[in-house]
Amino acid sequence: MRYSPFRHLPSVIWKRRPIQFTFFVTRRCNARCPFCFYLNGADRAEAKSEEFSLEEVRRTASSLGRLLWLAFSGGEPYLRKDLVEVSRAFYAANRPAIMLYSTNGLLPELIAERTEQILSHCRNSTVVVKVSLDGIGGEHDRLRATPGGFEKAMRTYRLLSKLPERYPNFELGINTVLFRDNQDQMDALVGFVRGLPNLRTHTISLVRGNPPDPRCKDVDPDKYRQAAASLEEALTARTATIYRFNGGRLKAAQDILQRRMIYRTLVEQRRQTPCYAGRLNLVLTESGELFACEMLPHSLGNLREHGHDVRRVLGSTRARHILDSIHQGRCYCTHECYFITNILFNPRLYPALAREYLRLAPAQPGRETASSFLPR
Ligand code: SF4
Repeated sequence: MRYSPFRHLPSVIWKRRPIQFTFFVTRRCNARCPFCFYLNGADRAEAKSEEFSLEEVRRTASSLGRLLWLAFSGGEPYLRKDLVEVSRAFYAANRPAIMLYSTNGLLPELIAERTEQILSHCRNSTVVVKVSLDGIGGEHDRLRATPGGFEKAMRTYRLLSKLPERYPNFELGINTVLFRDNQDQMDALVGFVRGLPNLRTHTISLVRGNPPDPRCKDVDPDKYRQAAASLEEALTARTATIYRFNGGRLKAAQDILQRRMIYRTLVEQRRQTPCYAGRLNLVLTESGELFACEMLPHSLGNLREHGHDVRRVLGSTRARHILDSIHQGRCYCTHECYFITNILFNPRLYPALAREYLRLAPAQPGRETASSFLPR
């Protein structure tokens, strides 16, 4: 029986513990994308620290409760040799409803092999793999400064596209980072991805943070809005692009609302809704720094200095001070992952959410509609 996302409904009222957890398992990467905010931190002292061992992962996981959503990111997460064991440790301790893996797709056979191992061990979780695609053909290679990257990403997609038949808990998606250099090509890319068989989702992540090339952030809000409209059209026209998990249609409605709010954030340069970072969401770096969100410069504390106990970090004066400042609305961003919880767990947004839900085509029998759960 698959773990239901609806187990976490009490968090709509009581936001007392994290249910969305992102683990940057490694800072190592086999690509050098100019828009990557995490790569930009590779020179920091923290980046030189040793990666969490499997035992440290186990101790950390055991200090967390049940999770709605667990994301593995990096760096390139599949470069971590023990990614399967790390996944199993969280699966055993936290029973996540969704486990998400973002990959650049540069290691097709290795990614397919490790994904299949994860799927066979974590059968009660919905496992989502998002392959990055920012352009078509050589354009993707140029945008990511990775020669041959497009062919490898497509091979990864083809290998992974065989798995949904054998693993009903598997969802395959594409994620596109929208930034200055590809903002004019979104219609073509959305059309290309729409034609790929066996794909469940296509998400767009707006460039964020402090990328190595700051010009990447020169995005025209209207071009983002146009890209969002293309995705929305693809969703409503093609109900075959659907998630199979319980609650997928609700997620699709949230996703549409989210892109509208991101557009408004871009235009108005201010936060649109209360942010639950630190209360419902946490981010862990490969060396143990715990953040409310990776956009903020200060960590809540390092787990290595708190016995690998998340609750101890959250109970510290420093953490409480940071959470208070988030609560007071001193920051804003367009980070998609936070819009998920900030919308789904905010009853004030339910009328708007209900409108989008009703606008969507009904799910096919035995299936739920959804466009783009869990962008990274
Ligand atoms: S608004 Fe954005 S930057 Fe501020 S805490 Fe929330 S996720 Fe982080």
